[in-house]
Amino acid sequence: MEPTVIQMAQAGAGTARASRGRPGRTTGRLAGREDHPEDTCIQVGRARFGGRQFVVIAGPCSVESEEQLLSTAREVRGAGAAVLRGGAFKPRSSPYSFQGLGPEGLKLLDLARRLTGLPVVTELMDGDDLPLVERMADIIQIGARNVQNFSLLKKLGRVDRPVLLKRGFMTTIEELLDSAEYILAAGNPRVILCERGIRTFETATRNTLDLSAVPVLKERTHLPVIVDPSHAVGHRRFVPPMAQAAMAAGADGLMVEVHVSPETALCDGDQSLRPEEFARLMDNLTAMAASFNRIIGPEAQGPAVGRVGGGGGPWA
Ligand code: PEP
Ligand code: MN
Repeated sequence: MEPTVIQMAQAGAGTARASRGRPGRTTGRLAGREDHPEDTCIQVGRARFGGRQFVVIAGPCSVESEEQLLSTAREVRGAGAAVLRGGAFKPRSSPYSFQGLGPEGLKLLDLARRLTGLPVVTELMDGDDLPLVERMADIIQIGARNVQNFSLLKKLGRVDRPVLLKRGFMTTIEELLDSAEYILAAGNPRVILCERGIRTFETATRNTLDLSAVPVLKERTHLPVIVDPSHAVGHRRFVPPMAQAAMAAGADGLMVEVHVSPETALCDGDQSLRPEEFARLMDNLTAMAASFNRIIGPEAQGPAVGRVGGGGGPWA
């Protein structure tokens, strides 16, 4: 039987294989398909990344208040999202922009998780916050700006949480795979990759969604690959078509920003779907799913790399 990623990492095979492979090439990587042809499935509550389930993560850009988070959480859960997102530590270009609620935001995410039963994903920016974020989050997000913060990536090798690793706006597909490799080689086999748009000469959209990265990544790595159309396009009206295109391109899921009142959002209101727009998108994805051999809801659970979070909740 093929060794699992965990076994390879534990045996220190990562280092040996990486040094055998040519730098910057898929060959020899723990993330590569050569030694691990079957897809890695990562189970988080009832969400299963990397199998037939098309996992939709939804929620506000930032946690702003109890009322904002809980009302948005209730809406996205009702529409069929499998995971709740929300930033407590926000990487903002300007130091004068809203920086997130920090630990208070994490407490609100924990409350939302308990009420909805949805697992939560939130961003980690600083290694000092890792113990707190690890305790409060079901999935730890590493944002575009930290994708090559190698000392932070190494720390994630030691945590018992899946990592959602976003592509940087200036990183190539190979560099993204190298970044994932840092986490795998440090001992954490649960990495989900996320294409979120790259910076190009085009200014009509916030970034350019590199959808071709999806089939390329699916060919090169066994790790699950999802798409964030919200940060890619930057305007809510362009989010649904690109979300549907992501399913067609073979992505394992989506991360979509949703806000109950985008006009008053403290961050990324322009790209946040209103709850009714999100519900319509979910209907359209559900209608498409069978043609792409996908299901939106939870699938019968087979072997997966670990299980965390999720469960009932009063709103379940
Ligand atoms: C986010 O998802 O909250 C975010 C900041 O995205 P990115 O890191 O892709 O810019
Ligand atoms: Mn955002």
